[in-house]
Amino acid sequence: MDASTDGSLDRPSLRDLPSVDLVLKTPAARLAAERFGRAAATGAVRAALEEVRRFLLAGQLASLPSPDHVALAAGDALARAARGRLRPVFNLTGTVLHTNLGRALLAEEAVEAATSAMRAAVALEFDLDTGRRGERDDHVRDLLVELTGAEDATVVNNNAAAVLLVLNTLGLGREAIVSRGELIEIGGAFRMPDIMARAGVKLVEVGTTNRTHPKDYAGALSPETGLVLKVHTSNYRIEGFTSEVGARELAEIAGERGVPLVNDLGSGTLVDLSRLGLAHEPTVREAVAEGADIVTFSGDKLLGGPQTGFIVGRADLIARINRNPMKRALRVDKIRLAALEATLRLYRDPERLAQRLPTLRLLTRTREELAALGAALAGPVAQILGADFSVEVADCASQIGSGALPLETLPSAALAIRPADGASGGLLNGLAAALRALPVPVIGRIAEGALLLDLRCLEDPEGFLASLGALGTAP
Ligand SMILES: *Cc1c(COP(=O)(O)O)cnc(C)c1O
Repeated sequence: MDASTDGSLDRPSLRDLPSVDLVLKTPAARLAAERFGRAAATGAVRAALEEVRRFLLAGQLASLPSPDHVALAAGDALARAARGRLRPVFNLTGTVLHTNLGRALLAEEAVEAATSAMRAAVALEFDLDTGRRGERDDHVRDLLVELTGAEDATVVNNNAAAVLLVLNTLGLGREAIVSRGELIEIGGAFRMPDIMARAGVKLVEVGTTNRTHPKDYAGALSPETGLVLKVHTSNYRIEGFTSEVGARELAEIAGERGVPLVNDLGSGTLVDLSRLGLAHEPTVREAVAEGADIVTFSGDKLLGGPQTGFIVGRADLIARINRNPMKRALRVDKIRLAALEATLRLYRDPERLAQRLPTLRLLTRTREELAALGAALAGPVAQILGADFSVEVADCASQIGSGALPLETLPSAALAIRPADGASGGLLNGLAAALRALPVPVIGRIAEGALLLDLRCLEDPEGFLASLGALGTAP
């Protein structure tokens, strides 16, 4: 907007706009300059005045704002811009391992370990006993071997990287045999056939979508075969007239021909979840014991650690994988390694694991516990939301998320928020947007005419109420 346009429109109100200098002299502007710097404050005041000018020209302002008012608006804009974009939210979606919300929350022990590693130099690739160069994997290798029963182990950026690296190491320029029932897509761009192509491996599909037999694999094995891949169909299930070849039998078929069997477990877990009252998910130890030569799995799904991917299995194959130059491009930094080591250590004490590891702690909360939390929160939340909405505690079903046990749901309780007089659903969308705009955003889901705030992942009810209390106040 330039001055000549202002002049040509000849609106007296425009000429009465306070000057930048005048606004900068207000207490609010001085405060903003102190917090964010003089240059930023001046820029924000200019922008705020520009916005007032736009509204005036559009005829959307009845009166001119005062200099104090403009300064406050500028200060708010600066404060909003200074808030990090990647800031904490309340995950009340009911999905515990929500990929879009960052998956597993770390245990306090892991947070502390990561924080110390951030602040200081660490013996990342340095052997403190000999004073010589060490291996970055050494910090977690022994723990992984102990917890999985595998001969050796290595760690990369995530499980997608683990699969890519394994395929490329064992199958470059050769063939990988996979059942047509296991050619998965895991959201985003992770589709097994595409990963194969990028890894330089020729995909050989066997069987059909619903049925694959031992003879299908046996018939496809050839001198060109680099590996047989078994993929845990983590995010879907084929039911009805089906048959698949179990890992144990497949290990025998591949082993007879000297071809390694790779089992991509996806989530994988280091403990038997059925002992915690959850459905059984194959454990990594089981997959290793079944005879897979290599098993890959994720660090931030059911395992409850930082984003990492694991490759465990035969020592000679792990050595080849570690020699692949791609390993260097997929490696993990010291912060995550520190968090990972601390997370894995918790598994040495299975009795207390479900309390100390947030993922398992959240997954094992009971509906009764959550309903009681809901009963305590419904009143205060109704008060904050006012007469436009009704708030009640409702039964709902949480999900594990990240493709782990996709058909299992966990009985849970939610705050169900509805427009008070059965008014428009638009009101709910507006409320959902307002909750997302809070200083600590609250993320729920809309289902059957209600905004559901699933309480499974809410461990800080006071903080939640405090954040909600900012509703309706200036952002
Ligand atoms: C989730 C998953 C992956 C990818 O793991 P990330 O840790 O998300 O990279 C690969 N394979 C399977 C079967 C999975 O479920």
